[in-house]
Formats: sequence, structure tokens, C-alpha cells
Amino acid sequence: GTRIFSGVKPTGHLTLGNHLGAMRRWAEVDQHRAESLFCVVDLHALTVEHDPARVRRLSRQTAGLLLASGLDPEVCTVFAQSHVDEHARLMYLLECVATDGEMRRMIQYKEKSARARTSGQGVRLSLLTYPVLMAADILAYGATEVPVGEDQTQHVELTRDLAVRFNQRYGHTFVVPRATVPAVAARVMDLQDPSAKMGKSHAATSGIVYLLDEPDAVARKVRRAVTDGEPGVSYDREARPGVANLLEILSACTGEEPGALAERYDGIGVLKADTADAVVELLRPLRARHAEISADPAYVDGVLREGAARARALARPTVDAAYEAMGLLRPA
Ligand code: ATP
Ligand code: MG
Repeated sequence: GTRIFSGVKPTGHLTLGNHLGAMRRWAEVDQHRAESLFCVVDLHALTVEHDPARVRRLSRQTAGLLLASGLDPEVCTVFAQSHVDEHARLMYLLECVATDGEMRRMIQYKEKSARARTSGQGVRLSLLTYPVLMAADILAYGATEVPVGEDQTQHVELTRDLAVRFNQRYGHTFVVPRATVPAVAARVMDLQDPSAKMGKSHAATSGIVYLLDEPDAVARKVRRAVTDGEPGVSYDREARPGVANLLEILSACTGEEPGALAERYDGIGVLKADTADAVVELLRPLRARHAEISADPAYVDGVLREGAARARALARPTVDAAYEAMGLLRPA
């Protein structure tokens, strides 16, 4: 059967990109389709310079936003990565299957290590090995599908390679998963720099829409999006990335194809205004539910506690089997 796993890092305030690329589908479609697990992948937040108090705060906030976006703990499993030891246990085994060359080829490693270097910080070794932990996150649960934004597809490919390699060397142990990306808005771009992905860990600018921004701020950010000097509206991701980004965001909100939207709009100003309104309406219920949920931190903690118990029970047999397959004696 189908099993779904995905996660989000508590490295910053969640953005419109996280919502449209990933979380929204988890809530609207994925959790109802199959057994599914959604994880606050907090260990991954330690791969770049971090403040412990902030990670703690953001982990609760991220869990609260997952619930606010519509994940139902009666329907799916919501938990924190660090609550389930199986992730770290399996990571080590997979490090013995992966190569350093494979890790150094990862685009995100190149980008994030460059950023850490220019800011004068060392590059944490965990940043290099992070895709192996992500592979462990997925393989521990026998997930068949990993719903992610486009920027994560390379890591899911790596996960597939590691699963296939492990199975060939040590006997069939892991399900080989595949990534699923949304048809539109799989890569939401920064509104001030349409050549860069909108990312929650980037320095805050008016190009990033946060899910908890006030409606006024959301509208202002969208209306001031950088586009280009061309007249009219057309959908061309290469030539007109700023306009295409707005069309994809509006498309994700309304369900109308970006190409069809481009034909209906003559002026960028109206497109921006309509997109701003659509995003404000999209986020309104989420903000309201988050306000309720965050008023009761014990509720979120309880969801995470029960989620971890379920996740642990699912992961342990697979991870134990991997230990055995690799030649480690099991405790008698
Ligand atoms: P960071 O900057 O710390 O990497 P992030 O915003 O990229 O943060 P992640 O926690 O790495 O968020 O990713 C969570 C999910 O959101 C992943 O499935 C990822 O592909 C998706 N995602 C992140 N940014 C975007 C974006 N701009 N457009 C679409 N999907 C995105
Ligand atoms: Mg990311």
C-alpha cells in the first residue's frame, strides 16, 4: 500500500513556499489518501548555526502550524524527529552505504555551505551528511511517497539510490520511495528576487511571505513583488520569472492554470492586486486556527507525544532489520 512521509525543518518562520509546495497538499490530500507521517525535523535544524531557544520555540510553532494547516492527529501522525531515536540509529548505517562524493554533489549542500563560509562560520559536518539523515527519516517508515517541493527532489533521488544499494548488498530491507511535487507552485520564488527560492531560513526581507504575517503585510509584499519592464502578462518561467511566480501563486490559490490566467490579465497591477487578495484569503483560516492552537501548548505537546509513540512502533522493526542485515549481532 501507499505510505507517506514528509517533514519540515524548524529553521525559521514557515513561508508561503512551504505551504504551497508541501504542507497544503499534506493536509488537503495526502493524509486522507494513505497512512501518513509528518515530522518536525528538528535534528536538521542543527546543521546550520542555531540558537537553542529559538529552535525550541520554532519547533512548537511549526508543529502548531502543521495542525493549523489541517493535519488531523486522528488521521495522520504528527511528531518530532528527535523524539524517535530510530532516525539517528538508521542514519549511521546509511552513512556506511553512502559516499562522500555523493554528498558533495548535492545542490543544497553547495548553496548552504557557501552561505556558511561567506558569513565566516565553519561548515558543520552535519550539513554535508544531512541528506543521509533525511534518507533515514524516509526509509525508517517504509514510505512509498514523499510529497515535497521541487528543491527537495534531489535528496529523495539520493534516498532511492541508498535504498536500492542497501537492498542489493544486504538483502531486501527498504521500500524504494518516490518524490511527488505539486503541479504548480512547486518552487515559489522570493518576491523581491525571482531568481532565488523563497526560504524560511533566509534573512527576512519583503520578498518572503510568512504564514503568520498580518494580512496587511502579506498584501503589501505581494503588491510590491519585483517583476520586469515588459508590457502585459505572459507565462514564461525562464524569460519572466517574477510574473510567472505571481501566476503560479494565484493558480495555486484559485485552481485556474497559470497559462489561462495569463490570458485573462492585461496588466501586472491587477494581477498583483488579485494575487495579494487570494493569498490573504488563503492564509486567513490558517492564522485563525493557529491562534487557537497556540493558546494551548499542552495540546501540541500531547499530539507530539502520541505521534512519537506511533512513529517509534512503525520504525523500530525496519531499523532493527537493517542492523541485522548489515551484520551486526543483535542483543541476545
Ligand atoms: P530552509 O531555508 O531552512 O531550508 P525551507 O523554507 O527550504 O527552509 P524546508 O524545511 O527545507 O523549508 O522544507 C520544507 C518543505 O517545504 C519541503 O518539502 C520543501 O521542498 C518545501 N519548500 C521549501 N521552500 C519552498 C518553496 N520556495 N517553494 C515550494 N516548496 C518549498
Ligand atoms: Mg529547505
